[in-house]
Amino acid sequence: MKNLKPLLLIFAATMLLSCGNTKSAINQTSINNTTNNDLKFHINLNDRKNDTYKVKVTVPKLTEENNIFQFAATAPGTYQVMDIGRFVRSFKAFDHKGQLLKTVNISTNQYQLIEPEKVHTIVYEIAETYDTPVTELPIYPMAGTSIEDNHSLINGQAVFGYLKGMQSLPMNIKIDYPEEWIAGTALELNEDGSYTANNYDHAVDSPILLGNLTKASTNVQGTVVDIYTYSEKGLVKSSQVLESMEGMLNAASKFLGGLPVDRYTFLIHLEENTLNPKGAWEHSYSSEYTLAEKPWDDMKNGFKDMAAHEFFHVVTPLNIHSEIIQEFNFIKPVASRHLWLYEGTTEWASHMMQMRSGEKSLEDYLANLRRKSYISKNYFDDSLSILELSLNSFKPETQKQYPNIYMKGALTAGLLDIKLLELSNGKRGLIDVVNELAKKYGPNKPFNDATFFDDFVDFTYPEIAEFMDLYVKKATPLPLIEYYQKIGIIYDAEKYLFELNENASEKQVELREHWMKAL
Ligand SMILES: [Zn+2]
Repeated sequence: MKNLKPLLLIFAATMLLSCGNTKSAINQTSINNTTNNDLKFHINLNDRKNDTYKVKVTVPKLTEENNIFQFAATAPGTYQVMDIGRFVRSFKAFDHKGQLLKTVNISTNQYQLIEPEKVHTIVYEIAETYDTPVTELPIYPMAGTSIEDNHSLINGQAVFGYLKGMQSLPMNIKIDYPEEWIAGTALELNEDGSYTANNYDHAVDSPILLGNLTKASTNVQGTVVDIYTYSEKGLVKSSQVLESMEGMLNAASKFLGGLPVDRYTFLIHLEENTLNPKGAWEHSYSSEYTLAEKPWDDMKNGFKDMAAHEFFHVVTPLNIHSEIIQEFNFIKPVASRHLWLYEGTTEWASHMMQMRSGEKSLEDYLANLRRKSYISKNYFDDSLSILELSLNSFKPETQKQYPNIYMKGALTAGLLDIKLLELSNGKRGLIDVVNELAKKYGPNKPFNDATFFDDFVDFTYPEIAEFMDLYVKKATPLPLIEYYQKIGIIYDAEKYLFELNENASEKQVELREHWMKAL
């Protein structure tokens, strides 16, 4: 047991976040040019004093309907309350002559414009989250903001706000920054050096990393992949990251029958003493990683697992999600029932696709199952069902249990895969079902959050109803021994050990071959 400990610490400290995806992501192909109806955001990063972003918003004609400027209470995929209004340091509205207009801070995240029809510009300062201590509800670093002399990290929900009734309006974003900096983001660059986000959700879905970065690019079967890295001590270069990632990206492409996006951007932020929890936040066309800087050889395996996880989110929730993610509520956090799918299945898939493609050995795969099983049993409350974990994810007491979605949630997805393979004689495992669901739903067609358990059963087999009931809705102990036996793998619950059964029957071996079939 002792040898698990260092691994455990690394693992437990690494919280992966996922990001739900929104309408914005979907309409990215039709980037609009800026018009007078857009919201224009200007950020001056040449002025980095006081650790604040100096933001100027030029607004279109407002009416009484648009009298609230809203900062985000939460953001897709973080399953945490953020209350970004806490970081606002000043907030002013002006008319077209530059005369100050009255505004009132009516709640943590809301500023009321008393004469909205007169407002021409809004100017505010908002503090970076990294160097701003808070007494409660800290912002995860991968979802936060940082301003330093040689770089800055922008996560949209922590810098931008929107006007009531205008969440869906295009945003033009112009950032001034030192000449020697470069900027990495999935947003497309306009000719004038500004970016266009299709709406507020799209801006939140598109983090921006700027500064002294290295960049590397490749093309994976038609998908353009860009990597931008900020490495405080210069230990890691984007070219090294790229070299390590190509196998994983090819594995993902095989697993999914082609990559589901035409471009993808990895943003990597490495500092020696980075904040906890270390991890990543995924978006529709990018993901952002905040990790402790080490020589790349010491980081690369962990990074690959994390990147595989984040990348798989392109499938779910981007292509398979409920209405709660489709129409994201930035004002009030609304929990979904389906973290078993968004996070559990994603975490399972990130390891499974590497095993099936030969990027990861069966031995490593089983060792990872062991870690998950051990951590889940010893560090988390086994009496909390995955459904309860989902529905209460925003509550502080449940936040402590949240990382179990990457342990128990992934183990559950692994069992579901075995069950589906058994029911289909090895023909239709979980990844086949997920790929079919991505086609059935896709980015623009949400499933019904309330009925999806039943819909999933209809889409698969009647026996899956009992599985969902026992292991997702209720907290019945996972039948690891019984299920892994079906594929000729012995699970020793005392040692948390998964081992191949050398004396497996022909039937067990056959199902195992389907389970681990090479891509
Ligand atoms: Zn995730």
